[in-house]
Amino acid sequence: MRIRTIAVIGAGILLVAGCGGGPDEKQARTAGNNAELRQKAQARRPPAPPPPRKINCDRVKCVSLTFDDGPGPYTARLLDTLKGRGVRATFFMLGENVHAHRNLVRRMVMEGHEVANHTWSHPDLTGLPPAEVRSQVQQTQKAIKDASGVAPTLLRPPYGATDKTVGSATGMPLILWSVDTLDWRYRSVTRDTRVGIKEPQSGGVVLFHDIHKPSVESIPKVVDGLRKRGFTLVTVSELFQGQPLKPGQTYTERAQKAKAVTASPPPPAPSASPTSSP
Ligand SMILES: [Zn+2]
Repeated sequence: MRIRTIAVIGAGILLVAGCGGGPDEKQARTAGNNAELRQKAQARRPPAPPPPRKINCDRVKCVSLTFDDGPGPYTARLLDTLKGRGVRATFFMLGENVHAHRNLVRRMVMEGHEVANHTWSHPDLTGLPPAEVRSQVQQTQKAIKDASGVAPTLLRPPYGATDKTVGSATGMPLILWSVDTLDWRYRSVTRDTRVGIKEPQSGGVVLFHDIHKPSVESIPKVVDGLRKRGFTLVTVSELFQGQPLKPGQTYTERAQKAKAVTASPPPPAPSASPTSSP
């Protein structure tokens, strides 16, 4: 009896559908089609980068790992390490290396890393006329945007070399560092690991180079060691959330809020050593 009732209702629905249906039926069919189209469009659309994170680096101990001069042959391995540990980092890339590694640049964005500008071919910008400075920066902006869909907002001048002319010619915030691991000089996993874990302070920016194998090999232990020290690892833009970065200004670390009540004056912030690295 029950089965027969359902069959009758079913036949009724089929009949209505077969006749082209009333306004309600048309609406329902249109809605169904729209949902189907949306699903199909979603399936076709490439995967999107993860949403930006809100992190208050006044409340948690933050540090930024930054990687310069790539992408290179070890960058994929580094991305595997960072992905495996759920870490986001910042890559200051050379425009001339981007074309050969477009997939890596895209992967960086898809995995939540920050892509940033380190000029086209690594010149000392203070030795160039403003037009050439602009060209070094803009060509690299274009290369990174073409590869990843994202235009960088941060620039790291090679060698940390900058002056007023460079600042105004680039028109971007200039990000240096508070910890220079000197990984390019020593090429030692043991040393990179030790320095990378011990030296960073809260709000710090740590300089590594992903074009060197020992640097990349040190990162699993560096990440684990920094987390053991209570650090949250963030991109440079995340580090400076709430502290707007101005074009042409130089930054080495996040400014620390003075403690509300302290028995003695807070210790001076660690100074940057912007002169010695490639
Ligand atoms: Zn460099």
